[in-house]
Formats: sequence, C-alpha cells, structure tokens
Amino acid sequence: MGTIDHTVPYSWDPPKVYKAIRDFAFGLGLSTAGLASWKYKDIMGHIRSKDTVAPLRASSTVAPQQVWLNVNHHCLTNRQKDISWMAVHGCLPTGEFMYRRHIALTVSCPHGCKAVENTYHVLAKCSVARRVWALFVPSVSHNRLLTLPRLTTENVLNGPPGGCTTTELRQQWRIIGVVKQVLWEMRNIKVFNRSTVVPTTLRRRITILLRDRAITNFHKDPVTAIAAWGVTRWKDINL
Ligand SMILES: [Zn+2]
Repeated sequence: MGTIDHTVPYSWDPPKVYKAIRDFAFGLGLSTAGLASWKYKDIMGHIRSKDTVAPLRASSTVAPQQVWLNVNHHCLTNRQKDISWMAVHGCLPTGEFMYRRHIALTVSCPHGCKAVENTYHVLAKCSVARRVWALFVPSVSHNRLLTLPRLTTENVLNGPPGGCTTTELRQQWRIIGVVKQVLWEMRNIKVFNRSTVVPTTLRRRITILLRDRAITNFHKDPVTAIAAWGVTRWKDINL
C-alpha cells in the first residue's frame, strides 16, 4: 500500500450535489494545490472575484460613506441592516439577481405585475410595495412616528443624506427599515409558500417589529424613549 499525502486534497469523487464545488476547485487548479492555497480568505476571494455584485452606486444626494453608515446604523436590527446593505449593493436575491446566476427560472415579479423583479421593484416600484407604503406611512405619521413629507426611492434605499443625526431622523430610518424588512418577507412568502399576506397580518407584523424595538428602549430609558417614539407607553404604538 502506498502512502497518502495528506497535505493535498485527494478525494475527488464526491456525490452529485457537490459536483459544482469539485468543478470550482478544478477550475482554479486547487485540486493539486497544497494546504497554503486552501485558506478561507483566499477561497472567499476567488468566489467574490467571480461574482458581479454592484459596487455602491453613486447617489445624487447621499455620499457613499454616509450610505454605509446609514445601512449599518444601530437603530436598525441586524436583519434590517442585512436587507439594507444588500439593497444598496444590488445583491438582494431578487428574481433578476437569481436569474443571472441561473438559480431562478424567471426574472418576473412574483406578485404578478409582469415587471423585472429587482431591488427597486421589490422595495418601491411594485404595486404591492406602493400599497404597503401608502397604507403604512399615513398611519404611522398619524402616530407621530414618521414625519416624512416626501418618501423617495432614494430615501428608502440610502437613508437620510446627512445621516441619522436627530431622534426624528433615526425614528424615520428605523421605520423605513421595518417596512423594507416586511416587504422582503412578503416577497419571500409569495415565492416560497405561494401565498399572499393579507393587510391585517401585515399591520400586525409591522406593529410587532416596531414594538419590539420600543420595548427595549422603554425598558432601558423611559424618558428618552417617550421623546423618541412620541408615545407615553410602547403599547400605544399601533397602526
Ligand atoms: Zn411587482
């Protein structure tokens, strides 16, 4: 029996589901490379260099550094940061994004509007998104939580041009984050469960997400929370 060299990979007959990984490794010549070439950072570098994620788009009103600070702002939950980050980089896995990578069969919007489903479409242009913003914004403004006279696509994606410098702007950005999360969840429910979210469920979901944040704020510092949320108790946050 010969000796096996454990410093290079030697089992190259994986099950069918791992064939893509095998092809990837062979394509890069990793099949004969030593351990030094199999560092996590290097592999991720190869994957990223093959991908076509758009760099941060230059915005007419918000500087790229500011967009980065906005999407990473502490007033958003981790989930909302992820969605906002993917949205500004154009790598939210929408129909268009997945179709280009041969993962989805169609580029069309799952809500049936016959348009190409990209980030702008999901979060702003889709008839479903427009209905949600129309339902939500006046209702929240009524609760003095959102004072945004003009809600533009740019505001929704990039956040406040000067950053979240005031309580009001932070509140506004937090609410936009919640609506984006809900729109993305609705889209995924439509794609994976093939069902439509009814307005009552939608309202409940948005209220719960907002209250989740408010409860923490009220628990930590009631005085600041009252000023920040414009209500005296977290229970008063309603749609
Ligand atoms: Zn649509």
